[in-house]
Amino acid sequence: MPGRAAVAAERAAAAAAKAGGEFEAAFEAAIAKGMSEADGDKFTDLVASGKISEADAIVELQKMLKPVKIEVGDRAEDIAFKEMVKKVPTIMIDESGVDALNEQYKAAGVKPIAAAPNGIGNAVPEPAVSCDHCGLPGAKSRCSQCQSSFYCGKECQVAAWKSHKKACATFKRVCEDAGREVVAALADKEKELEANERVADIGQLDNEGAYRAAVRVGLWPALTAILQEDAHGVSARWERRQPCSFMHWIVTSLFRGERHRTDGGFAVVDAGRVVAFLTAEPGGWDALVDACIGVLKMALCSKKLPKQLYMLAHRCARDCWNSLSMMLVHEPVVRAIVGAPGDAVPGADVFKAMAATLGSTINSMDNEEVEARDPNSVVEANVFHIAAMFSYWARELKAPCDFDKLLGLSSVQRAMYRQMAKPSAEATIKKGRSLSPAEYGKAVRK
Ligand SMILES: [Zn+2]
Ligand SMILES: [Zn+2]
Repeated sequence: MPGRAAVAAERAAAAAAKAGGEFEAAFEAAIAKGMSEADGDKFTDLVASGKISEADAIVELQKMLKPVKIEVGDRAEDIAFKEMVKKVPTIMIDESGVDALNEQYKAAGVKPIAAAPNGIGNAVPEPAVSCDHCGLPGAKSRCSQCQSSFYCGKECQVAAWKSHKKACATFKRVCEDAGREVVAALADKEKELEANERVADIGQLDNEGAYRAAVRVGLWPALTAILQEDAHGVSARWERRQPCSFMHWIVTSLFRGERHRTDGGFAVVDAGRVVAFLTAEPGGWDALVDACIGVLKMALCSKKLPKQLYMLAHRCARDCWNSLSMMLVHEPVVRAIVGAPGDAVPGADVFKAMAATLGSTINSMDNEEVEARDPNSVVEANVFHIAAMFSYWARELKAPCDFDKLLGLSSVQRAMYRQMAKPSAEATIKKGRSLSPAEYGKAVRK
């Protein structure tokens, strides 16, 4: 039975609709049906800023009014899930990819890149850049000297050489210096640099020449070490009001696939770089996951953070976990993680270890304090999502284990996992990048 207040709000909405305020009416009705205030504000902002039309907003709002259709069986866990769905917000909007960071990329005037498709199959998708001579997209060859200039082929490269010649040697030297500088900062053994200073220049590796130079002088071991440090030290740093997560910096710079993208976000990762890292560093994946868990604990369990800082931490945790998700859409990345390159069938070991780590992370989030700090269970859903992606790959690559069972979830968690995480994970892998809220809704309501 709807409460009295809800009935009143619906009546008010009906009256408003008659009066002509269709958007307001749809809005009021959605609030009456339990749309959170935060989601409401987002909608109002979208309409006010002209990002969506009022008519489209009405359609979206009306969709929210439709009851969530979920196949519910007669098992106890399904019934518990049905009860839970009544209580939790049905729309989980995570706009990690649309924020101030994107504005920075745009302001910096970075060149667009055609986003690589997802990497199902045994090839690492290559980002496509435009030719520095003729400007056409899809440049495949790059100057072997400086690694900084891209061309569609020999013809353009030869034509450009006359003007490029002078800059090339300088480019090369600048790249070498930048690569060495970044690695030295990351590996600052004496810790003379502040955490922020140690990573602030990692953006220099956007440049392929600097990136390659850094790899030559020990980027990967330095990265593993700094991620391991994050797993232990991230909360302490934030509590000292020095909010810096190495993991966050790394995934939003070094591994960000859209280094030249102008329309925002890091909805894809540079799978080639991730594979290079994981192949070079046997402990690389564990270091990434541990760093993500360090950030998550800081965002969810640290009572010492003031509100403003906590919100930043929450955002940081979402970005980090989202980046893992973007890595796991690529089969070559997964194969590098589980040590089964080419088309080899992976063993069960890495899947078992992941199930244990993710299962215990999920269980450690199962308390009231976390609930209060993670409204709408956004971060919690991120962790479920990563587990579901591993489950997908265990099945797809025919690993000899029952991943879902190994997670050791409670019956309520299992229902949430099966009904929400698994379909959204599969849809994400098929799409090869983050789902829009509408696509997410479609996936979980199937
Ligand atoms: Zn060209
Ligand atoms: Zn060159």
